This record gives sequence, structure tokens and C-alpha cells, in this order.
Amino acid sequence: MVAIIKHGATKEQLNSLTAFFREKGVGVHIVEGDYQTIIGLIGDTSRIDIEMVQGLDIVESVKRISEPFKCANRKFHPDDSVVDVSGAKVGGGHFGIIAGPCSVESEAQILEVAKAVKASGATMLRGGAFKPRTSPYDFQGLKADGIELLLEAKRETGLPIVTEIMNANHLPMFEEVDMIQVGARNMQNFELLKELGRTNKPILLKRGLANTIKELLMSAEYIMAGGNENIILCERGVRTFETQTRNTLDLSAVPVLHELTHLPVVIDPSHATGVSRLVPSMAQAAAAAGADGLMIEVHNNPKAALCDGAQSLTPEEFDSLCRKVAKVRDAIAE
Ligand code: PEP
Ligand code: MN
Repeated sequence: MVAIIKHGATKEQLNSLTAFFREKGVGVHIVEGDYQTIIGLIGDTSRIDIEMVQGLDIVESVKRISEPFKCANRKFHPDDSVVDVSGAKVGGGHFGIIAGPCSVESEAQILEVAKAVKASGATMLRGGAFKPRTSPYDFQGLKADGIELLLEAKRETGLPIVTEIMNANHLPMFEEVDMIQVGARNMQNFELLKELGRTNKPILLKRGLANTIKELLMSAEYIMAGGNENIILCERGVRTFETQTRNTLDLSAVPVLHELTHLPVVIDPSHATGVSRLVPSMAQAAAAAGADGLMIEVHNNPKAALCDGAQSLTPEEFDSLCRKVAKVRDAIAE
């Protein structure tokens, strides 16, 4: 980080600023020119609040030279991370296909979908037990019973299970869940992220509705700073002015994230488009862009789904999607 000091700053002001930086544990290198003084900060500056420094009387401007995320940064970890979700690997050439209904609705429903998606090549089963719904009057999920049904589907199919957490107090219920999803609306629920950092569970971290890629990485950093490095990032579309699709899929997030971080990146074309017929082409595009996996909503009867039916594929449509994605992956394999 570099701070450019305003012309006319006194020696005392400069000394107190450098003492402040040293107290934060960083090295200080001062370059005094005829017209301007520049302070270079050396070491881990992630604990320094750039906006606070920017606001100081004697500071003209501040610039970060290195990124504030260290654990997630590819610079410090050049190889791709592989996240192992109870045997289902994602990242570093391993492609994960996470599929299932938006919400777990009944034993018959989850078992039927689980068996079907497994037969088509899904590597994990996902179903919502706690649902973050925009309206409090909409179906909120089967909660603990939903997790029980997912565990039953896991016993039947052997598929690792993924489900969303909304409250850190619920963690004891997630003991046997293989990967915990943090939904878009909770991407910046920092207390929840810190709590998940104290576990060793794989975490599927979804990008927020209107969050930048940097903010997504900072959220991953919250979890990693606590010691949990098992994170899969998920791009699920962001809010834009467009209304033809539920969100706008930011596919460029795949190569951008691959440059910035070693963490695997999966694409969720279901929430990104909100329209089932658009999901297969976006899934293929995601594979072509180098995504490490997909998350697809599949329902045995989408028209009767209690949540997100319009974007859910039938098992047959999912099967066809898997074949098309496999062809794309073959085509781009080196
Ligand atoms: C979901 O995955 O079912 C979900 C609610 O997604 P998001 O958090 O991306 O909106
Ligand atoms: Mn959904």
C-alpha cells in the first residue's frame, strides 16, 4: 500500500501517521521528495482500513498495490485448489455437477430426483431445507425434516448432499451435511461466515445479488481466515436492468476468478436465468468458459414445485444437459 502525503504536512503529523502504521504491524518506507512525501507500507496491510487512511487530514491519496485477500489469492497459492466433498472432487480438472430441487418437499420427491440425477451423472445432490424466500408467506422449507430426507436420499444413492444454512445457530443440524451452501442473500453475513470458518465443512459460497467479484473473494477470505479453506465459489447471476432473465449471468466471472483465486468456481444457470429452457445453453457456455462445475435445479414435476419451478429442469431435460455439457468438456480438453 502506498500513501501520498499532502504538501505541507508537518514532521509531527508524519511521525504520528508512521507510528500508527507500525502499530498495525507493517513496515514503513518513507520517500521524501521536494514537493511530495510518499509512504510505502510493507508487509500484510490487510488489517489497515484504506478508507480511514484516505480520510486523514494529511493524506492526499492511498493505493493498494496488492490485494486485501491473502488466503484466497492465487499469487500465494498458484495451484488450483481441489475441494473434496465426501469423495466428490471439484477444481483442478475435477468437474462437479450439483443437482436437485430448489426445496426438499417430500420423501418421494427427493428420492425420485436423487436417483434420476445420479443416473445422469450428478456428483452431488442439492436440496433446500431452509429457504430464503422474498415473501414470508411463501414456503420456507421443511427445515430439520428436509435435512433428514436429504440424508435418506444420500443413504439410497451414495450422493454427498448440499443444503443451505441461514443461521449459524442451526449448525448442529448440519453435522452430517457434506457441503453447506451460503446463499446469495447471506454472502455478506459476516458473523455466519466467521462461524463457518471455524468448521472444516466444504462451503458453497454464492455471489450476492449485487456484489462484485472482489466482494465475493473478501467473503471467501472471511471463511478462510478462520481456518476453513474448503470453499467452492458460485456465480449465480447478478441484478441488472435486464428483465428477460431473472438475473444476468456474469460468465466472465469464471476466467476472472480463475486469475484471481485458486478456489474452484461453479456456475448456477438456474438462478441466473430463472427460465428452464435457457439453462442448458448457459450450462454449456459455463463449461466452455472453464467452470469447475455446475449447480442445476431439477424437479420431478416442475409445474407443481413449491419453489423455483419455472427454472427447474425435468430429470429428462437434466439428462440431456449432462450429455451436452460432456461434449463441450471433451471439445475443450487439451
Ligand atoms: C438457491 O440456491 O436455491 C437459492 C436460493 O439461490 P440464491 O441464494 O443464489 O438466490
Ligand atoms: Mn432455487
